[in-house]
Amino acid sequence: MTMEKNKTPRLTLVVPCYNEEAVLPTSSDTLRNIMQQLMAQHQITTDSKIMFVDDGSKDKTWGLITQLRASNNLFTGLKFSRNYGQEAALMAGMQVAHHYADLIITIDADLQDDPQLIFDMIAKSRNGFDIVYGVRNDRSSDTWFKRTTAQSFYWFMKKLGVDIVPNHSDFRLMSKRAVIALMQYQETSPFIRGIIPQLGFPTTKVYYKRQPRQAGTSKYPLRKMIRFALDGLLSFSVAPIRAVLYAGILICGGALAVFLWVIIQHIRGAVVTGWSSIMLSLWFLGGFQLVAISIIGEYVGRTFTETKHRPRFIIQTDTYTSSFTTAKPTMATFHFDHQSVK
Ligand code: UDP
Ligand code: MG
Repeated sequence: MTMEKNKTPRLTLVVPCYNEEAVLPTSSDTLRNIMQQLMAQHQITTDSKIMFVDDGSKDKTWGLITQLRASNNLFTGLKFSRNYGQEAALMAGMQVAHHYADLIITIDADLQDDPQLIFDMIAKSRNGFDIVYGVRNDRSSDTWFKRTTAQSFYWFMKKLGVDIVPNHSDFRLMSKRAVIALMQYQETSPFIRGIIPQLGFPTTKVYYKRQPRQAGTSKYPLRKMIRFALDGLLSFSVAPIRAVLYAGILICGGALAVFLWVIIQHIRGAVVTGWSSIMLSLWFLGGFQLVAISIIGEYVGRTFTETKHRPRFIIQTDTYTSSFTTAKPTMATFHFDHQSVK
């Protein structure tokens, strides 16, 4: 266990938000209620927080977060300098929060993932689990297209040997030590759902039915979904390169057969114009080489972006950290005095 037995944990809810002005008022209400119940039951400390990570929204999201912050110091926020994507928002939230929190729960702003499950998650963590996955066992509220593409993605990743939890999105609880372990993964575009099963630690799941979005529209157009799937595939597996190798070997075998056939025809004296076979192989091999080169290029490109070690995100404003540091001014004063005496 990360914390001593019976010590009340300090919780931070990390909520990524991108253009969520439509849903934030109701979501923040629901989450505040849950946090207050947890505090009343002494399940979490009274200085536990909700942290909204504004991923460079273009609407009034940050304005709403600031208002919430002013109304109740349970609410805090991080604001990115621009849109970096949900994964970056989650990483930033966890990175900032784990300096203060014993437990971190990440949840989407639209509350499609049943927030009532937070109670079960805390109970599981009390039983010694470091990672608790929220898993959807009913996706009937999603569109057919979303369901099918998601299912094929899980199936394909599994075939490639990448260990991800099917029907789990980013609704999960993590203990401080699990988050510290996650922070050691320094890649520029981490595929969080693929990394967490690699961390180890006692792990369990809780199940729920996915709800439709309460307000606003999905922030995941097809373009972002494809990018996400490709990120997962290419950052976790060399299988595509291997597939090209096997196909190459197969084609070489085929070429050998063609070679034998050509020799035999030659000895028999049969005149073959050869135009069609040359055209076929020209087109086929040309196309195949392009595919192969593009796959290699993908990996080389990734090496290129990773070696630059660019920051994963830039935080413009942080009202989470200040909510703790201003709450404890005595500590800072003490340190200062101590040094000036020396
Ligand atoms: N999100 C984000 N940055 C983005 C896109 C989405 O922080 O670039 C957040 C969004 O605000 C929401 C969560 O990620 O809290 C999931 O997005 P959404 O609900 O639109 O995805 P869906 O449920 O349709 O897959
Ligand atoms: Mg959603």
